[in-house]
Amino acid sequence: MNIKDFRYDGSKKFNIKEFDTNQTGEFKDREDAESNRDDHILELQGLQDRLYAENKEGLLVIFQAMDAAGKDGAVKYVMSGINPAGVSVYNFKVPTAEEMDHDYLWRAMKAGPERGKIAIFNRSYYEDVLVVKVHQLHLNSDLPDRCKTKDIFEKRYEQIRNYEKHLYENGFRIVKIFLNISKDEQKKQFLQRIDDPAKNWKFADGDLKERGFWDQYMEAYEDAINATSTKEAPWYVVPSDKKWFARQLIADIIVKTMEDIDPQYPTVGEERKAKLAEFRKLLMDEE
Ligand code: AMP
Ligand code: MG
Repeated sequence: MNIKDFRYDGSKKFNIKEFDTNQTGEFKDREDAESNRDDHILELQGLQDRLYAENKEGLLVIFQAMDAAGKDGAVKYVMSGINPAGVSVYNFKVPTAEEMDHDYLWRAMKAGPERGKIAIFNRSYYEDVLVVKVHQLHLNSDLPDRCKTKDIFEKRYEQIRNYEKHLYENGFRIVKIFLNISKDEQKKQFLQRIDDPAKNWKFADGDLKERGFWDQYMEAYEDAINATSTKEAPWYVVPSDKKWFARQLIADIIVKTMEDIDPQYPTVGEERKAKLAEFRKLLMDEE
């Protein structure tokens, strides 16, 4: 699969109205798409093992999407192949009182990746230019008036670009994934959540209210993605009406990003090799 087709790194504009959320690339159906699932997982395991051993780069994977687009499922899929010791997942909810008393990047910084590890953000600081923008939540926050300017979101885009550049220049890779579903597909997913008792818990009272702001969200996503697509921290817009396709594409994106990092097991010098040989001899000479 050519992940470049879905990558936004500043060299082309993202036009959300023209984007086909129902694409499935070269795959005919779910079975076809999932036929190389095991290969993906093995590849991911090998790469993660080396990332962990090398302990130099860290990887931040951000998932953003409308409700019911499959963020949780995507996180689960990606995690299924990974050594849990080398990964953390942080779910960004409505900010707590403590979080609100800090700048909006604070909670993300605390949850950011460590060297050798993968951090997964289920939602992120992008909420502060999405839900906050759609509902103008900053106006009722404790921000001082001097900060509640008309161009506050332009400023935030810049702050985010700077933050991500800062991370990149300090040894961290960032991949941002927007799971893009259609309004129709969201309706189908919501109906399933209402009809299937095992999925009832996934449906929140506020979900329909947010759906009512669909167009404003689409505009906010388009603006945020265009303003923060960079070479160092590209966005990938993943067609997500077919979840089985989205998951394969996401796994591919993460594998390719890690291949690009190309982590290596630390090599052992001559001195250390001699030392290991000594230890070997001691073990073999044991009674
Ligand atoms: P969920 O991910 O479905 O469990 O829902 C989390 C909710 O928290 C979503 O409705 C988000 O829009 C909301 N949320 C996350 N971050 C923020 C934020 N910075 N300000 C306001 N709401 C947020
Ligand atoms: Mg929800």
